[in-house]
Amino acid sequence: MATGQKASLSQVITKNREVALDKIRNIGIIAHIDAGKTTTTERILFYTGRTYKLGSVDEGTTVTDWMEQERERGITIVSAAITAFWELKQESCVPKGEYRVNIIDTPGHVDFTAEVERSLRVLDGGITVLDAEETVQSQTETVWRQADKYHVPRIIFINKMDKLGANFEGTLAAIKDRLGSKPVVLAVPIGSEQQFRGIVLVLERKALIWEAGPPAGGAGETGGTYSEEEVPEDLKAMVEKYRSQTIETISETDEQLLEKYVGGVEPDSTELKTALRAATIKTELFPTFCGSSLRNKGIQPLLDAVVEYLPSPIDLPPVKGVWDGQEEERRVGNEEPLSALAFKVQTDPHVGRLVWLRIYSGKLRAGQEVFNTTKNRRERVGRLVLMHANQRELIEEAYPGEIVAGVGFRETVTGDTVTDSAHPIVLESISFPEPVISLAIEPKTKADQEKLGEALGKLSEEDPTFRIKTNQETGQTIISGMGELHLEILVDRMRREFNVDATTGAPQVAYKETVTKVAEGEGKYIRQTGGHGQYGHCFVRVEPKGRGEGYEFINKIKGGAIPGEFIPAIGKGVQEALSNGILAGYPMTDLSVSVYDGSYHDVDSSEIAFKIAGSMAVQDAAKRAGMVILEPIMKFEVTTPEQFLGDVIGDLSSRRAQIVGTETRGHYRVILGYVPLAEVSGYTTTLRSLTQGRANAYVEPSHYQEVPANITEKIIAAKKS
Ligand code: GDP
Repeated sequence: MATGQKASLSQVITKNREVALDKIRNIGIIAHIDAGKTTTTERILFYTGRTYKLGSVDEGTTVTDWMEQERERGITIVSAAITAFWELKQESCVPKGEYRVNIIDTPGHVDFTAEVERSLRVLDGGITVLDAEETVQSQTETVWRQADKYHVPRIIFINKMDKLGANFEGTLAAIKDRLGSKPVVLAVPIGSEQQFRGIVLVLERKALIWEAGPPAGGAGETGGTYSEEEVPEDLKAMVEKYRSQTIETISETDEQLLEKYVGGVEPDSTELKTALRAATIKTELFPTFCGSSLRNKGIQPLLDAVVEYLPSPIDLPPVKGVWDGQEEERRVGNEEPLSALAFKVQTDPHVGRLVWLRIYSGKLRAGQEVFNTTKNRRERVGRLVLMHANQRELIEEAYPGEIVAGVGFRETVTGDTVTDSAHPIVLESISFPEPVISLAIEPKTKADQEKLGEALGKLSEEDPTFRIKTNQETGQTIISGMGELHLEILVDRMRREFNVDATTGAPQVAYKETVTKVAEGEGKYIRQTGGHGQYGHCFVRVEPKGRGEGYEFINKIKGGAIPGEFIPAIGKGVQEALSNGILAGYPMTDLSVSVYDGSYHDVDSSEIAFKIAGSMAVQDAAKRAGMVILEPIMKFEVTTPEQFLGDVIGDLSSRRAQIVGTETRGHYRVILGYVPLAEVSGYTTTLRSLTQGRANAYVEPSHYQEVPANITEKIIAAKKS
């Protein structure tokens, strides 16, 4: 939103004009931090007519970054969905006319993995923004893989063509090498760095030259208009080279085109675009454009491409789900029963609790009673809200393929399915990674105590990777998340939005424990205390499982050694013991526990006795199972000027880092590898002082790995002290 202007609910309640399904695009903009996602989103919102003044990230006035911290830190945390409109003016593979583009804002920082996962789940297509100097960066790779997982079709935008060191060809090579994907070049730059003036659309052989944009680092209302010209003489050869490659690549995806092409007939532009659209939707090809968001160059053709190549909700297969053990489908269509997925919960200071929904089938009316099939609860949606860049619109009805926010839901949270009562279905939920870092948090006063509980509850409801736990021994509240920044921002929000004053401890690594050997153990809990006694007795076997496979409890009791009714109690006892840890008090993971024998007493056996026996048995077995501690390992990428390379590597080695390679990117050297999370606290400060502030580090959670023996001892000692 523009400076000084508060978002407010527009008073007009509109019918929400029904847009034909093929005229809807639900997209996200995905990129490495600083590649230009926010600036590109801004420019798109400008051209789609809803913001009237260009925002600038550097000045902290952008529309999507509407939370205070986001403005201050210059990063995007919350994925809001924004509705915009774009008119396709030219003949193409899709009809001309106005399209509704819903932009689902994905976060720019990897500590917010949950945000990326959930937005990828509900968007239909994406724009991957790359920095033309840095090319494919670590987070681009991560998010690219995540997008592959969800089969999200993508367009690539090579941004920052105006930047010193911009390298168009190098970026194309990186897309092939590092992403293993086929870029289909549809635009080539005219000039580079300071000389960057526009692009040539290669299929059309048309040059687009933009007027001079705003100066570097500043925003303004200039720029953005372009003129169509002949392809400059000195670029003709290059354009022809890319053009024939592009035509060949597209033709290879379609038999009829290939026949024509091989026979020496060039397919016409609509045929090519139609085939490219099909191949893009199948994620075989990735249409690639270039430009400079900051200088307002190259955005309009990118918007055309969103409409031309990214799928509408009807281009995708029907959504699948289950009900009563049966797999079911829902087609997009007004007449189908309602099915929608809640993908985000936001507490908004103006409107209260907003639940963001992607509607897959049927219509949703304001005031309608719906059924939350995940929770088995009825809910009533009060108001329905569409978010535009700088205003909100209340709507009466929302249609399939759309993204809306509902007010009035009480229990619906991220990942839940909402349907009409007569046609229940549970859609596949969203999976989230486990938190890797924790810290203790304490309220400053008694009054803060209550508010703290409420604030933490609300925040964790919004963010499934943010967890709260009470330490049984100390009574302390422990919060966990995906990284230091993640927790820092949440604590900050607590102060600002909920007025809670609290002190926090140093961040602690979320270690886990596991076993390395098969072992058996016995648990016997027998008490004779006059009258009724207690009797529970069982044998269990623990077995290691692969990393990341989690925990499993198996019942192998044969011949009624323990009656079936007591087995769940044993399972509970085992799980309790495991979650409290055995070696150093960290939760155990990656193992299976099977109960295979035991005995019972007709009168004295009870659930509680078997629960205790289960807990004793697994603790007994663990003693002989070769217990080890696992620690979270971070994947890192450090970008530094050549002259500091030696120092940076030396420092990394002292942090138990495993360096897997170094690369040259632009003027920089890049070091890639893995490092234990325990060793990176305060790393950015060290790096800054080692390199006069000229290096950059990027880390993200990767996997858990066994801790070396000498460090295990330290961890155990620290826990006991
Ligand atoms: P995000 O972290 O991906 O959202 O990236 P931002 O949009 O916040 O941009 C990061 C920085 O790159 C800001 O300082 C922008 O002004 C700058 N930037 C964005 N686009 C361009 C561009 O096209 N050219 C140049 N030279 N800088 C850009």
